[in-house]
Amino acid sequence: MMILKVAVAAPVYSIFDYLPPVDCAPGRLISGIRLRVPFGRGERCGVLLQVTTDSQLQASRLKRVREVLDEQALFGAEDIALLRWAADYYHYPLGEVIAGALPARLRKCAKEQKGGLSGWRLTALGSAVDPAALRRAPRQAEVMRLLMQSPAGLSPQDITLYCGACAQVLRNLERRGWLEQFEFQSVNRAHVAPSSATAPDLNADQRLAVDRILASLSGFASYLLDGVTGSGKTEVYLELVKKVVALGGQVLVLTPEIGLTPQLLQRFQSRLQISIAVMHSGLAEGEREQVWRRARLAHARVLIGTRSAVFVPMPELRLILVDEEHDLSFKQQDGFRYSARDVAVVRARRCNCPVVLGSATPSLESLKNALDGRYLHLRLPQRAGGAAPPRIELLDIRSTHLEAGMSPVLTRLLEVELSAGNQVLLFLNRRGYAPILTCHDCGWLAQCERCDARMTLHLSDNLLSCHHCGGQRRVDRYCPECGGKELRALGQGTERLEETLRARFPGVGLVRIDRDATRRRGTLEKLLGEIKEGKHSLLLGTQMLAKGHHFPDVTLVGIVDLDQALFGADFRAGERMAQLIVQVAGRAGRAEKPGRVIIQTRHPEHPLMQTLLCSGYAAFASESLRERQLALLPPYCFQALLRAEAQHRAPALVFLQQCVELGVSLKVTDVELWGPVSAPMERRAGRYRFQLLLQSDRRSALQEFLAEWIPRIAALKSARRVRWSVDVDPQEML
Ligand code: ADP
Ligand code: ZN
Ligand code: ZN
Repeated sequence: MMILKVAVAAPVYSIFDYLPPVDCAPGRLISGIRLRVPFGRGERCGVLLQVTTDSQLQASRLKRVREVLDEQALFGAEDIALLRWAADYYHYPLGEVIAGALPARLRKCAKEQKGGLSGWRLTALGSAVDPAALRRAPRQAEVMRLLMQSPAGLSPQDITLYCGACAQVLRNLERRGWLEQFEFQSVNRAHVAPSSATAPDLNADQRLAVDRILASLSGFASYLLDGVTGSGKTEVYLELVKKVVALGGQVLVLTPEIGLTPQLLQRFQSRLQISIAVMHSGLAEGEREQVWRRARLAHARVLIGTRSAVFVPMPELRLILVDEEHDLSFKQQDGFRYSARDVAVVRARRCNCPVVLGSATPSLESLKNALDGRYLHLRLPQRAGGAAPPRIELLDIRSTHLEAGMSPVLTRLLEVELSAGNQVLLFLNRRGYAPILTCHDCGWLAQCERCDARMTLHLSDNLLSCHHCGGQRRVDRYCPECGGKELRALGQGTERLEETLRARFPGVGLVRIDRDATRRRGTLEKLLGEIKEGKHSLLLGTQMLAKGHHFPDVTLVGIVDLDQALFGADFRAGERMAQLIVQVAGRAGRAEKPGRVIIQTRHPEHPLMQTLLCSGYAAFASESLRERQLALLPPYCFQALLRAEAQHRAPALVFLQQCVELGVSLKVTDVELWGPVSAPMERRAGRYRFQLLLQSDRRSALQEFLAEWIPRIAALKSARRVRWSVDVDPQEML
């Protein structure tokens, strides 16, 4: 008897057994296809994992699959193995992990869209071919000649019209690397026409890095590409991609933010005349599905994507690049809490290919892996193209009169640069107008009703908005406590800084880049384009502006308020602050003009800051690693968080207390359990939040414990009255 093991998207940790549909040819039942299955009182879409002959259940109790949805497997065996690993490691239901890796429509029993992959065009290699030299293959010569006259490409129907039936000829030409299939309807919103940009000659450090990585293309190896901002990491990526694609491989490039993908895409496209697909959360669902399909069918040779792209099937994957590997946005912070960077390393190992983690400010985790010899440490210590490193200075603003957060000194420096025709970048990591609205008479503060947090004032749409739960309300006109009329905005956000600067520097092109200013699709790309064209001299923004962008004319960077970053509760606060400073500073003086960075602070003597500024990020990082080792914190131990939240305190606490008791009863020696304690923000979006911290010296001990423990806590009655989640390798305590 045939039993189908099916992963069904449901919040349960089991896999379900089904019988095949009646009259189904056994050959159609291959793992990786989707099935429509009865589930509970309804129906679900599931993915076939395996066909076996035995089941824990009696055959009479098994239900039948209603329909086989796919002809071909959507996931290869390797893809399923990776998803299985991720579900196990992050202790998340496999069915949901798999469903999450599918484009939305395909999660819901919809048939995969056919067609679309209909165009043929010449590759760069093909364009250099002389058809006259193909005397012994007249049919191939005919097709090549036709496509040379049609640089935009032709559909197979069109080609048949001119050359007769020639599917096999097209395939042969494709195999020679002269033709490629492509989507007529471009799926890349930020489509950029290929230009003839030429590559710079790699310098010695870049060359060495490229050679080391290319030397191990046939097997797994992980590299930490540790290169200062502007050292030419992207050039290293381009060179690697070119080689791997020429060898017939696919390349996966992970990038942290949507904002960075168009930029990276543009550089890739202008240099490599190949089909590049882009996947990020800004795509419409239909576009996303097409990109997914192109990658899965290996039509897209390069996939550039944010976090979730790490799970896109790529049958010919031969190289993975993770740009800005330290970036927090590689970690999903809700639902399935995976780290795309860490999954990328596991994926590379499973596919037997190299993975390159690049950053100017590597995470302490990756640096430790390099120290331990697990990653090969490749360094690019110099800026490429001769740009000098920026000069970083602290500006003590104690007892200084500030205007919208700007000291007179910083304002003066700004003036000087602007009148010299240079660009200036101001960094303030707080959007909105002001973080505090208070009553001058009684001291009332505008609080979010559903969180332990203050509301941020957004004057442009006259709203108070909570940045934690998204709650919004109209700005009060009178104090709700005492009826006072004088409500004051304290502190500054980007909106207020913009207002002040516009008044101070009328006529100067100013652009603000933050989440509010770039909400509409395509706005960010547009504004970044305007900056490049030199339309704006004053660039103002949050970390959106700080990351990865290349602004050659910026000569001065001002960090308006560092102090909020200095005193975070999290033990990673220092690491994050240092990364941010170095990244922001890296925007300055990337070309011929030297750059200067001014950091306004009230704590100029802060020891971490001193190390960072006097000795650089590497020294800072090794000192931080030493501190972590002494304190037995990650990466010198392994952690997991069990979080629980509920409308009231009691259910969450009762549940976590029972989890502790269950944990203790498992008599595990190598795992410590701390808590329950309240989350740093105890109340959020109307719920009370508590957590348990688990810690061990050994990853395997922690994993074994979780594997025993989680199914048991999932079965607790008290679990049903709370929302709970597991976070393995948590990055933020929140
Ligand atoms: P990163 O990715 O490390 O920030 P990029 O690859 O963006 O650095 O390079 C920074 C600048 O230096 C770019 O303008 C790039 O074109 C230039 N560049 C990179 N490598 C070289 C090189 N070998 N010779 C000359 N210019 C280079
Ligand atoms: Zn009042
Ligand atoms: Zn709130």
